[in-house]
Amino acid sequence: MGKVKISALGGMGENGKNMFIVEVNDRIFVLDSGLKYPELDMYGIDAIIPNIDYLVENKDRVEGIFISHGHEDHIGALPYILQKIHARVYATHFTICLIESLLQENNMDVKKYKLYRINDNKTLTFGDVSVSFYNTTHSIPESVGIVISTEDGNIVYAPDFNFGITSNNKYLTSFDKINEVNKKGVLAVLAESIGITDVDRSSNDLVFEHNFDKILNNNSHRIFVSIFSTDLSRIQKIIDMSLAKNRKIAIMGRKGEEVIDIAIKSGYLKIPEDRYYVFKPYDQQKNTNEIDNLVVLVTGTINEPYNMLVRMCNGKDRFVHLTDKDQVVFVSDPLPGTLNNYINAMDELHRKNVEVDTITKKVLRTSHATSEDLYLLYSMLKPKYIYPIIGEYRHLYRHRDVIKSFGYVDDNIVLIDNGVVSIIENGNLSEEVDSIVSGDLYVDGSLIGNVSNELVTEREQLSEEGIVIIVAYVDMRRRVVVKDPIINTKGFVYNTEPEKFNQSISEFFMRMMKNALNKPSFAKEQLIDSLSEETKKIIYRLSKKRPVVLPILIEIKQ
Ligand SMILES: [Zn+2]
Repeated sequence: MGKVKISALGGMGENGKNMFIVEVNDRIFVLDSGLKYPELDMYGIDAIIPNIDYLVENKDRVEGIFISHGHEDHIGALPYILQKIHARVYATHFTICLIESLLQENNMDVKKYKLYRINDNKTLTFGDVSVSFYNTTHSIPESVGIVISTEDGNIVYAPDFNFGITSNNKYLTSFDKINEVNKKGVLAVLAESIGITDVDRSSNDLVFEHNFDKILNNNSHRIFVSIFSTDLSRIQKIIDMSLAKNRKIAIMGRKGEEVIDIAIKSGYLKIPEDRYYVFKPYDQQKNTNEIDNLVVLVTGTINEPYNMLVRMCNGKDRFVHLTDKDQVVFVSDPLPGTLNNYINAMDELHRKNVEVDTITKKVLRTSHATSEDLYLLYSMLKPKYIYPIIGEYRHLYRHRDVIKSFGYVDDNIVLIDNGVVSIIENGNLSEEVDSIVSGDLYVDGSLIGNVSNELVTEREQLSEEGIVIIVAYVDMRRRVVVKDPIINTKGFVYNTEPEKFNQSISEFFMRMMKNALNKPSFAKEQLIDSLSEETKKIIYRLSKKRPVVLPILIEIKQ
């Protein structure tokens, strides 16, 4: 009999950044390491990843990071995390290929990291705990559910999945494995909530196929399909349907090509060589349309497909310039945080008279668990405790209500928040809970994890209130300010006469400088900080605004 702790570092009350921890006695098992994309107003922040201080402090107890599938909300934080803790990573072959490509993108040498390939026949043993896997159906190949077997029963991690029956046989669920898990008794299931509201999302993709078929039949020119590169099973469908209509296939988008390359190498995507079309640079094409019977997948992550389409409209793309004969099809709605770029692409396309079609999310088969899928899962596993995970609060609470309608009671449903640790002692849920450090780390381009809250606030201030730059020339030897400071503003709106305002700031600044220079000693960095702070105060008093204030002291020798 032992102690099991279940907690989340991300993925609770949010869309993405999935990372969960199961501790069995002293052993730590980490489930997934995802990122999430920021909302629109985060000023240059590219991604958000979980704070992993807890794992760093306890790194000797971490047995491994177990990855369910290759979507970025499940693997995207790995480059950062592996730099902080040298943990083993376990994932299927296809997922490992994606992880390797992600590490390479971050200039990391994959050979230095401990990446292990698993499959649904493999069982890993860690003392008296073992970890095994079962195949699931999702929009990306080789997705698995993860089973942690303890002496108090199995703990099942069931993130993104559904039991869709019409999917490609390479994406099938191993129901036999799930049944075996049940035989040994299931202590807890952690299952996703994000698809819980997808009640009217058809269980098959026939509506999509019908719509796309119509588009193929009605257009004899080029068709550009904007689709996220992670939606691989649907990409294969588009390729198959296009090939059947004697079309050639081209793929645009750096990240998209990479994922598709990996999928082709792993045997998940099939495009016959003679049907695969590669664009020549636009200025080398003999006629601008090059070939007509082409289906072009415009693919990538987050804003990439939209930005590429804009470039193709305004003549800035190296390979493709769109014309009014072309047609663009958007598959799925914009993701959170991409709406602006989507609207921008739409505007540009319409201005170019390109025919635009949108196949909305509503008619696309969901690749997440609906309430029916969850019912089936719980009926097969019969867990003692259910932890609704993955999703915003509305999804988590809806999931809880749905479980209740299956006959479970509150005592068996555990809703935790990021950073809250639920404890199961000798097979029974304890009333006591623990807490661990959790939170967001911001990623800005290559500056992984080095971006603080203050920096984001500073960018917010810059965009809303502008900047005031004060340049002063100082003769350090004689300890005097050589001439009046120069005040320069960008994006700052004066609400009094600018000259009067600048005069007041200048006088104030001179007074502060004189005081500082009169002291026997001072540190320049500290002086700049206090100049900035004090000037901010006076600016606020004069204008009720809080711009970023940047004092620059230039030392001169006379
Ligand atoms: Zn997924």
